[in-house]
Amino acid sequence: MSRFDSIVIGGGLVGSAVAYGLTRRGLKVAVLDEGDVAFRASRGNFGLVWVQSKGLGVPEYQRWSRESSMLWDDFSRELKSETGTDTQHEHRGGVHICITEQDFAERKKYMAQMHLEAGETRFEYEMLGQTQLKKLMPEIGPEVAGASFTPYDGAANPLYLLRGLHSALIKRGGRYFPHSKVTSLKAAPHDFTVTAGGATFNAPKLVLAAGLGNNDLGALVGLNVPVQPVRGQIFVTERVKPVLSMLTIWIRQMAEGSLLIGESREEAGFNDVTTPDVQQFLAARAIKMFPFLRDVRIVRHWSALRVMAPDGLPIYEQSAEYPGAFVATCHSGVTLAAAHALRYAEFIAAGGLPKQLARFSSKRF
Ligand SMILES: Cc1cc2nc3c(=O)[nH]c(=O)nc-3n(C[C@H](O)[C@H](O)[C@H](O)COP(=O)(O)OP(=O)(O)OC[C@H]3O[C@@H](n4cnc5c(N)ncnc54)[C@H](O)[C@@H]3O)c2cc1C
Repeated sequence: MSRFDSIVIGGGLVGSAVAYGLTRRGLKVAVLDEGDVAFRASRGNFGLVWVQSKGLGVPEYQRWSRESSMLWDDFSRELKSETGTDTQHEHRGGVHICITEQDFAERKKYMAQMHLEAGETRFEYEMLGQTQLKKLMPEIGPEVAGASFTPYDGAANPLYLLRGLHSALIKRGGRYFPHSKVTSLKAAPHDFTVTAGGATFNAPKLVLAAGLGNNDLGALVGLNVPVQPVRGQIFVTERVKPVLSMLTIWIRQMAEGSLLIGESREEAGFNDVTTPDVQQFLAARAIKMFPFLRDVRIVRHWSALRVMAPDGLPIYEQSAEYPGAFVATCHSGVTLAAAHALRYAEFIAAGGLPKQLARFSSKRF
């Protein structure tokens, strides 16, 4: 049996960020990861570090997302200096585009409410009418009504992020075990024995970060993790010269020149196929926003399953029945990667979660 200080189940963005954070605190960590047959949102997402739509009615979530976005600047520099991997993080703010006047009016109310709820932590934003938006983004189409802007938003390349996290984890002495689906888990307080990929692992700490797999695993350690899949479809175009002057929520240009166009939200169970009707909808919306896209070729279209709690918030908790077992799951694993690595992992290493995260306990369900 191999002994570690902590076992992390799941090597996607959440598990890798937490595992890397634990190694920063000097813990000996094993990451057990099922592999290519599993649903893996971390390899199919849009890569935004997005804050402006997070936490209406739940200011704790707004603050947590913002904290992560602020931490991201140092976090990406740290990953680069430790591993040489550039996550292509950018943090120049972003716009949520409103096509119709009605969208714009609703967004205005939404942002005003976010501002109100932020209280003394403030929430800086601007509503940009069509003329203002056109000055900022000359490429915008004539049908667009306007947009909301916040300086908090950013983006990264999620695949480089994942690669950087895996490399940093290994450099700091962590172990990554691919093709290692957990097949048995025995729990006692501060004593967890896990079998995966034909090997057995033991540790006093266990972190469930298995995305949609957390539902079943949680039940084994007294944690309620009612996450469900929500499908999202995205497509990517051929590379073009730099055309987008700002980061937007549905269309972004990657450093290499290709444009990502997203993204749907569908209740489709565990079905991750792509569908032409959604592609048509996404393409039509994108062309309305940016008419030049009419002449740009799509090269690939995919779908992936979001890991979603019933209220869309993260779930963070330590098991009361089996102390030492923690869960981390959320639907914004890119945005929250810095908070997971630099904050959540610290709390786990110290042995307990602070009041700041109490709102995210599964007791709310
Ligand atoms: C279309 C789409 C767009 C998105 N856009 C954004 C965005 O712009 N910004 C953002 O912040 N977030 C975005 N997300 C969300 C983000 O991708 C997820 O929050 C994040 O990837 C979740 O990571 P995870 O590690 O929890 O889950 P996953 O990536 O699903 O990883 C879970 C891992 O657990 C492993 N596993 C499962 N069961 C077991 C088991 N029994 N034993 C061992 N291993 C197991 C799997 O192999 C897998 O590697 C998007 C998601 C989608 C689908």
